Amino acid sequence: MWKISPRSIALIGAVFGTLARALARASIHDRRVAGRPLPRPRDMARPSRRFYEVQVPDMQAYPKTHLKAVAAIIFAITVLIAAMPAEERPAQTVPVSLSIEPEPKPAPIAPPPAEVVPEDPWVDVTVRPADSLSRIFERNGLPPADLQRLMTSGPGTKTLKRIMPGQVLSLQKNESGQLQALRYSRSPLDTLVATRADHGFDVFVETVEPELITSFKTGRITANLPSLYHAGKYAGLSDNLIMQLAQIFQWDVSFALDLRQGDAFGVLFEEAYVDGQKIKDGKILAAQFTNSGRTYKAVSYVDNSGQRDFYTPEGASLRKAFLRDPVHFSYVSSSFNPNRLHPVHKRRMPHRGIDYAARTGTPVFASGDGKVMIVRQNNASGKYIVLQHGEQYTTKYLHLSKFAKGIRPGKTVRQGQTIGYVGATGWATGPHLHYEFLVNGVHRNPATVRLPKAKPITVARRAAFEASTAPTLLKLNSLMGHTTFAGLPSDPASSRDG
Ligand SMILES: [Zn+2]
Repeated sequence: MWKISPRSIALIGAVFGTLARALARASIHDRRVAGRPLPRPRDMARPSRRFYEVQVPDMQAYPKTHLKAVAAIIFAITVLIAAMPAEERPAQTVPVSLSIEPEPKPAPIAPPPAEVVPEDPWVDVTVRPADSLSRIFERNGLPPADLQRLMTSGPGTKTLKRIMPGQVLSLQKNESGQLQALRYSRSPLDTLVATRADHGFDVFVETVEPELITSFKTGRITANLPSLYHAGKYAGLSDNLIMQLAQIFQWDVSFALDLRQGDAFGVLFEEAYVDGQKIKDGKILAAQFTNSGRTYKAVSYVDNSGQRDFYTPEGASLRKAFLRDPVHFSYVSSSFNPNRLHPVHKRRMPHRGIDYAARTGTPVFASGDGKVMIVRQNNASGKYIVLQHGEQYTTKYLHLSKFAKGIRPGKTVRQGQTIGYVGATGWATGPHLHYEFLVNGVHRNPATVRLPKAKPITVARRAAFEASTAPTLLKLNSLMGHTTFAGLPSDPASSRDG
């Protein structure tokens, strides 16, 4: 006869529940005795670090085998109860099986229960000005022999010589007062960990992968924000991103001289986060710049050789044979002046070159790969350099204060290489670079002359390029589309020096 009262059913449930808990606890205890350390509270607080990730599967997987047996017994009893005549089965029996449910998940082990073997305490030490590791050891009562032992434990410990005030070192002492372990967060992304071993210390670096979040920012050149730097800052771009943006378009846009009111830009870029904190800007994914009514777009793409570069949406390289400015725009003082006067002649162009007003000593770059033809000084041009680029092109750089090291006739130079420094030698009232661009011996405007271009994406790679870049470009276009700039008419008639 099946005569089980609700009370006895509840009792059976309670008994098995207790049994399950006891088994789970015992199994965890066994594991600890077997020599596997439990996670220290320290590591538990850092969910992104390695220790924790290793421990979690252990903790969850372990008690399962024991609980399976318990669950089987309970299941059998539940089946028996279910087989009872309906009128003898009171409603209260239902919770029997339910009361078992929470038991397969024993309480998580964080924080560790009181019976855990206590770990030696960690002390966080903030590096003071003029501190060294030996001073920190002394202050914390650690033996100098341990410092020696630590510093000879491998090349990884070298970075401990470069600790900076404000950084934090975590030290762990053992019961003998020796250094047991040390942690040094060198950056938000990596931490040096040294643990005492038989011979010296085991040293390794824990690294955290930052979470990359895509951001979009946009800005516009105005009378109050006349340079890329001003407009970029106002848009919330870091110095680093402003420089990256200028680099992307440095072959098409003269950020030093050609910016106009109404010029606008948009940048899609990555930001790196660790534990919800932004730690740095990542790379630019795509960008757009509108200069004098003409829009340039660029998208980042890693080619099959692993090289990351920027291309137009059609797959053409943005690189060209010549940079627009042979001086970095951030040094040029007349960065926004559509009706610029010649600094010496005080009249509108035309004169046969482009003038960049910048402080004496500002580096001057070779605008393209080439060969040094002339390095000389005369009354009119002062110190000047002439470069030859292939058969057709010549560039000239005048009024330099000095030449860069190793710049001599016959030497080859690379695009962007410093060849000299801005000055006011020769006929110049103030420091500036006078730059000339000649095609087949005739002065030309480098902004409008047709130039050879770098290799585009090959036909074979075209499909892969489009598949890879389309989502990014779609995002950029959509975000730019949502941006409304108080449209200032572009002014193609504005004078440009030639
Ligand atoms: Zn000039």
